[in-house]
Amino acid sequence: CAKGTGRNAVVHYSPRLDDEVRARTALAADLRHALERGELEVFYQPVVRGTPAVLCGVEALLRWNHPERGLVPPLEFVPLAEASGDIDAIGRWVLTQAAAQVAVWHRELPGAEDLELAVNLSPVQLRDPGLLTIVGDALHQAGLAPGHLIVEVTESMLLSDLDLARRQLDALRTLGIQVAIDDFGTGYSSLSYLARLPADQVKIDKSFVRDLGEDRSPSVPLVRSIVEMARALGLDVQAEGVEETVQETILAELGCDRAQGYLYSRPVPAAQLAELAAALGAASPTPLVRLDEAS
Ligand code: C2E
Ligand code: MG
Ligand code: MG
Ligand code: MG
Repeated sequence: CAKGTGRNAVVHYSPRLDDEVRARTALAADLRHALERGELEVFYQPVVRGTPAVLCGVEALLRWNHPERGLVPPLEFVPLAEASGDIDAIGRWVLTQAAAQVAVWHRELPGAEDLELAVNLSPVQLRDPGLLTIVGDALHQAGLAPGHLIVEVTESMLLSDLDLARRQLDALRTLGIQVAIDDFGTGYSSLSYLARLPADQVKIDKSFVRDLGEDRSPSVPLVRSIVEMARALGLDVQAEGVEETVQETILAELGCDRAQGYLYSRPVPAAQLAELAAALGAASPTPLVRLDEAS
């Protein structure tokens, strides 16, 4: 950007970078109104447990239906919302929306009365002193028991201010809310570090699941040691990004409790999850049908 350069300053003009910045600025401006215009939607991805796999929970995953660009992925707009501060309102909306939805499923779907809800927290939300009240209000409004909520945080979020993070997570756990460490293994996990975290669950990152089943996969000993470490600390282990049966089999052999991935289902709009659970007759532990890609 050539603006504000002094008389002797060297001007580096890069049209491509300029376009990128402009596009991002425009997207951030659109995002400001996305919530009130009803362009945001929460999708739900099933989480399964056991062999054969049965539905035990869902992860809420935010979607933005941009009027011109179509579906914008969260990895593109969540950082913008974090930078602008819009993530506070958006994050609260996701919690409220998803808690209300899951409470409805608890009442209306046979066998789904213990369905768990996982919601991703942004580092910005984790730093918010009002977080406990916001989460408590969302649960109260929905009539959802705290034990059914899992908040997901990443290791990197915890590294930036471990003391604050620990206080916040301890407070949530005192209410009965569960804490999951998302994308586990991509940060600086060590046994001593993990032991100090107030967590109930680790979610093994999909990068370690991808090559399970390949010859001499370097991820096998890695996943095995994560599972052992988690066991020793009394944590549940969930795998993300399970796409193939061979991955599912190896994960089960390694003692992984829960799984999530395209093998079971893509993230789907609320209406499709309801249909699915109804079709399953979830009251008896029926194997989850393999779903085709959601539209
Ligand atoms: P995450 O929390 O690790 O969510 C899992 C991501 O993996 C999701 O991407 C999901 O669609 C994708 N996934 C699930 N199964 C598979 C699979 O079998 N294979 C592959 N390749 N991918 C799979 P998505 O929905 O694009 O979300 C990306 C990230 O955006 C999330 O990662 C999370 O960090 C963030 N995010 C999503 N919703 C929210 C939200 O409401 N609040 C915040 N703060 N972050 C969110
Ligand atoms: Mg997550
Ligand atoms: Mg993850
Ligand atoms: Mg992630």
